[in-house]
Amino acid sequence: MSANAQILPGEPAEAALERRSSVFDRDVEMRVFPGTRAQTPGPAQPVQLKPSDALSFRCHSGISCWNACCRGADVTLTPHDILRLSRRLGLRPVEFLDRYAVPAVHEASDMPVAKLKMAGDDGMGPCSFMEPAGCAVYADRPLTCRYYPLGLVSHKLKESDKKEDFHFLVKEIHCKGHFEAKTQTIDTFRHDQGVADYEATNRGWVDILMKLASWKSVGGPMGKAPSAQAKQMFFMVSTDVERFRRFVFETRFLAIYAVPGDAIERIKTDDQALLQLGFDWLKNVLFNEPTLRMRREVLRRAIADTRSEVGAA
Ligand code: SF4
Ligand code: SF4
Repeated sequence: MSANAQILPGEPAEAALERRSSVFDRDVEMRVFPGTRAQTPGPAQPVQLKPSDALSFRCHSGISCWNACCRGADVTLTPHDILRLSRRLGLRPVEFLDRYAVPAVHEASDMPVAKLKMAGDDGMGPCSFMEPAGCAVYADRPLTCRYYPLGLVSHKLKESDKKEDFHFLVKEIHCKGHFEAKTQTIDTFRHDQGVADYEATNRGWVDILMKLASWKSVGGPMGKAPSAQAKQMFFMVSTDVERFRRFVFETRFLAIYAVPGDAIERIKTDDQALLQLGFDWLKNVLFNEPTLRMRREVLRRAIADTRSEVGAA
């Protein structure tokens, strides 16, 4: 066991756990959404865009490339995407995933995610929602489709608590929208695409992916790769809010964690609130962050177990 994992003389066990956690933190820059929808290599422009920067782009049904980008598209489904799309289609999340998604691995963090299924054995065919008139689920289309032709990078320095997001431009050969006579700021484009709700709901999910991407360079949380069970927990919270609700209400979850009564009432029906609880729970379990409070008696037992595990008196 390394010196970092030991409890120092007189040090509370909680502080040792926190120290073990923070020593593995690293500066990280993660491409959350690659911005390429047709999996073509190298079209990203390596320029960090500010909200006030100009974007020359317009997409409309009269354009010669109409729908070209909805074939073989690389669309990672965020938790908010899955909520919106399954609601719109009147499906349970598990049914939605079964019909319209494929399992994948988020490269930077090594965590399991779901991607939108594209037709064809090679996944280069059309998206299930592509119709001659355009996207059949346009009002609830995924965040990647909203950002296009922008990609998104999240950036966080080890010393800072704050994560910064920025966009970069992707110019794929098939996309003629870049030659249209319409100029707007990045901020206006984002507003027109309605990304704010998506980003607010997904924030905790991106935080977790960021931290895992940072820790991947040292082998994972506490120096170990996340376990299969941790990956399953992450996938359950990110993709299947119904299953996570059953997990909260039908296991000892509420006997272990001190969740306030009004929050318990809210998460019975509010999927967004339940997702936030899920992200807080994952941050607590994976990174020992104080995002959820364990009940006092459970905490006392956990500290005693930890002390005996590291050989403290
Ligand atoms: S969801 Fe809509 S916009 Fe996104 S790839 Fe499919 S058809 Fe295109
Ligand atoms: S302009 Fe670009 S985003 Fe619009 S349909 Fe053509 S390829 Fe797709």
